[in-house]
Amino acid sequence: MFICKNCKTADRFELMFAPDYMGEKRFKMEYNEKDEIEITVDGYKFIPDLQFMNAHAVCGYCGQIYMWDYDMKGGQNEKIQKK
Ligand SMILES: [Zn+2]
Repeated sequence: MFICKNCKTADRFELMFAPDYMGEKRFKMEYNEKDEIEITVDGYKFIPDLQFMNAHAVCGYCGQIYMWDYDMKGGQNEKIQKK
C-alpha cells in the first residue's frame, strides 16, 4: 500500500511514461495474495517499490508527483520493508 503524502489517498495513481516509450501503455493495478500491489504494464508484471512510485506515479486524486510513502496504517508494511 502506498499513500500520497499530500492528500492521504492510498493506492490511487496513474503512471507517467517516458515520452519515448513505445508501448501501448496498458496499465493495470491489482493486489496479490500478500496484499502487495502488482502493476502490469503492457503485459509486464512487477511489484513497485517506493523508489518506483516516486519516479513514475502521479496521485490520481490531487495530481501530485514524488509524494508517495508506505501506508503505515494497520502495521501491515512490516513485511514490505523487510524485503
Ligand atoms: Zn494526492
